[in-house]
Amino acid sequence: MKLYFKKILIRFSITIICFSSIFSQCIGDLNDDYSVNIQDVIIIVNTILNNDEVNYEIADINNDQNVNIQDVIGIINIILFEDNPCTSQINITYNIHESLPEDWIIEFYIIIDNLISIIPANQNNFNDLNVYAWNSSVQDPYLGIEGGTYIGGGDEGFIMVLEINEMEFEWNHMHRLSVIAHEYFHVYQLSINEPMNEPNGQYNPNGFSIKWLIEGTATSFESLYVQDYYNYNYFNNDLVHTELSSLIHTNPSVFESYSSNNIDNNYTSSVFMVLVLVKELINQGYTEYEAFRMIFKEFMQTGAKNSDWEIYFLDMFGFSVDYFYNVLQSYPLNLEGVFPSSLLSIEEIFN
Ligand SMILES: [Zn+2]
Repeated sequence: MKLYFKKILIRFSITIICFSSIFSQCIGDLNDDYSVNIQDVIIIVNTILNNDEVNYEIADINNDQNVNIQDVIGIINIILFEDNPCTSQINITYNIHESLPEDWIIEFYIIIDNLISIIPANQNNFNDLNVYAWNSSVQDPYLGIEGGTYIGGGDEGFIMVLEINEMEFEWNHMHRLSVIAHEYFHVYQLSINEPMNEPNGQYNPNGFSIKWLIEGTATSFESLYVQDYYNYNYFNNDLVHTELSSLIHTNPSVFESYSSNNIDNNYTSSVFMVLVLVKELINQGYTEYEAFRMIFKEFMQTGAKNSDWEIYFLDMFGFSVDYFYNVLQSYPLNLEGVFPSSLLSIEEIFN
């Protein structure tokens, strides 16, 4: 270990001088490049050996008022075991229209706040998000922003559009809140899977647009969110009433494409497939939390794209897509049979 450090020290000693006075806010990121990596290890080793001045806030990883070998190990641990802790979060600009009820607006900010802390969307692939929200009772109020509920790409980053149906306020329908979690989850997916950011109007091998994995997860997530935070069983009260398509048994690959939307009302068939995948992972010995974490987060983080997602699928879940599509036939087309447990904590899933 020591020898290794000495070798790289010599090679990088010139570079280090350039970085030594730069100030950073992120622990372990000594050269302030928004990433904790080998360069930071080199800098801290050099600092220790030369007794150089260093910003303790950033270099004293274990907070013992000393910068020493323990902190070198601390930085190595950050590199090995933490997702990049230094990336900034995306900038969100809120355009929340006055047509929306005040209590919805308050709840909107509470939900977004929760989600940002549980599944922060970092500036990995894009930097800005504009949110446009209004009540469907008024004409589309934002110039050039088409109504509906969706995430769209714009010239200046992504947009989240939440045109909430006025009936949902009248009936106090939970969808008026769950849709916030659904659309934010797409923002999170975009932030952790680069291929999803690619244009997807038509088949793009470098994009990622496998619908049942994108929408089945987002809809499962919104359901788990309202189950956790509002004690409302969206699976049982809402989704269960939509008929599941028999194509789940006969030709499930049709749900890979968004052109199956007409037979996938409320994405319920996609949700069914995701929940079966959870059950199958539990059969493999994973906990329910681990299963959701693998599907919601870790699979997306592999960088899977349309041309190679089946390879990552096999790698992540331990069985092939074909195997999984066959297994679907052993599950009766009844959403109730694959409900997740009602006590799941969203926070715990992403821990
Ligand atoms: Zn969606």
